[in-house]
Amino acid sequence: LTDFGVENALNVLGINEVNDGTSTGSNSFSNGEIIESYSPVDGQLIGKVKTTSKEDYEKVMQAATTAFKTWRTIPAPQRGEIVRQFGEKLREKKEALGILVSYEMGKSLQEGLGEVQEMIDICDFAVGLSRQLHGLTMHSERPGHRMYEQYHPLGVVGIISAFNFPVAVWAWNTALAWICGDVCVWKPSEKTPICGVACQNIAAEVFKANNLPEGISCLINGDYKVGEMMTKDTRVPLVSATGSTRMGKIVAQEVAARLGKSLLELGGNNAIIVTPDADIKMTVIGAVFGAVGTCGQRCTSTRRLIIHESVYDKVKEAVADAYKQLRIGNPLDENNHVGPLIDKDAVGMYQKALTQVVEEGGNIVVEGGVLIGEGYESGCYVKPAIAEAKPDYKIVQHETFAPVLYLLKYSGDVENAIEIQNNVAQGLSSAIMTNNLREAERFLSVQGSDCGIANVNIGTSGAEIGGAFGGEKETGGGRESGSDAWKIYMRRQTNTINYTTELPLAQGIKFDL
Ligand code: NAD
Repeated sequence: LTDFGVENALNVLGINEVNDGTSTGSNSFSNGEIIESYSPVDGQLIGKVKTTSKEDYEKVMQAATTAFKTWRTIPAPQRGEIVRQFGEKLREKKEALGILVSYEMGKSLQEGLGEVQEMIDICDFAVGLSRQLHGLTMHSERPGHRMYEQYHPLGVVGIISAFNFPVAVWAWNTALAWICGDVCVWKPSEKTPICGVACQNIAAEVFKANNLPEGISCLINGDYKVGEMMTKDTRVPLVSATGSTRMGKIVAQEVAARLGKSLLELGGNNAIIVTPDADIKMTVIGAVFGAVGTCGQRCTSTRRLIIHESVYDKVKEAVADAYKQLRIGNPLDENNHVGPLIDKDAVGMYQKALTQVVEEGGNIVVEGGVLIGEGYESGCYVKPAIAEAKPDYKIVQHETFAPVLYLLKYSGDVENAIEIQNNVAQGLSSAIMTNNLREAERFLSVQGSDCGIANVNIGTSGAEIGGAFGGEKETGGGRESGSDAWKIYMRRQTNTINYTTELPLAQGIKFDL
């Protein structure tokens, strides 16, 4: 696979040295400043992207609002056919895009390819859904009347995404929004702008081949200021934003101030509860992959292990032993388990967390540190670390987006572990490792996990596209991807039709003239 090469991948994806970061489909333009994208893998410049100026943004919005008028009239199953073709194009370019994701973001090649597979899967899901945007019918209380509800598209959907899933999160949103009849404007993370340009190039090919207007798939680029253009814009009825809780709190207020809708997918602080009845071998695999996969930069990464005192030492030893086997290095080399952090700022935050946990009284079990020397020239490679801590430490309550795992001890019943697990501000993913049915059911019950995702005998990390994905509390409350998540991209309308010659009023009200 690596023979395919980064350069070849960039060629296949139509990436140049300097790329326009603003696009309405086939038309690309850009008058903003330039972002340079450096790979955390080897510190090399991948390419440059010109960002979106205010005037560029206006052009995009004009194209998008005009395109919506055409796109909404195309029957949903035909929109599904376009998304099917988009999924096919992704299959063709899977290898190239997977390599780019791995090279620009730093996740392993397997995870890069897995991310593209998620895009393909959501396209398949959306194609089926395009024939199932069902509303309900209900019985009218008035004779000779029929009542039902239907779903219409919203218009322009704004998508703001994070660096850690530089392509899949866009596809989760856009595949559903498109079949719903919406048009999309996407602002990818300023840390992974090349992935954004590559995806837009793929989408543009499909829309052009079908003679569809410019503006159904749009790209804008830049930092939070470009994101703000959408959050403040009344022409964008829905803003779907994925990223930190800090960002979500700002976006939520901006969008709410104009009574727009927001779909928020924010930070997590995910825990695995390990009970006395846990299968230790499965626990170790789930915990280690959850904590070090994507170098701890998944929103669902395992941050806390809440271990029963009776198995605490055994689990601690087994996990620490597994860490000794981790190979850290170039993520494009399939022999390595752990790649780099996204940039040096992230390395700084990782170091700060390790200092803080010790200051608060924690005990380091597996030492961290920044790697230097051959193969680590980017300065972004760090050693996954483990610390024993107390649940109420400030640093444990906080999401550090790096491979730092905290071991927490509980005693007594599983309720005590659930209380520790829930006692954080975030509510994304959670898991219990147990072969005890009572404990598992308790964890899933109304008295159990308060997270959007609750797993039994699986880690916290990773999810299938078929279920609704998202979390509660400071994770933002949004749901994306499978199940009935499509409803957020549409407006619901209740219709009542009178097929008589009388005009009876609801609630039996008489109004005689
Ligand atoms: P970030 O919040 O720094 O940036 C995310 C995006 O928001 C970027 O595109 C950024 O430009 C934009 N942005 C920032 N401030 C903005 C503002 N005021 N107005 C408009 N746009 C703004 O996050 P990041 O570092 O890229 O990603 C890591 C975070 O994302 C972690 O907290 C992680 O848990 C979270 N995340 C959550 C999910 C989920 O589904 N819950 C998925 C992936 C990542």
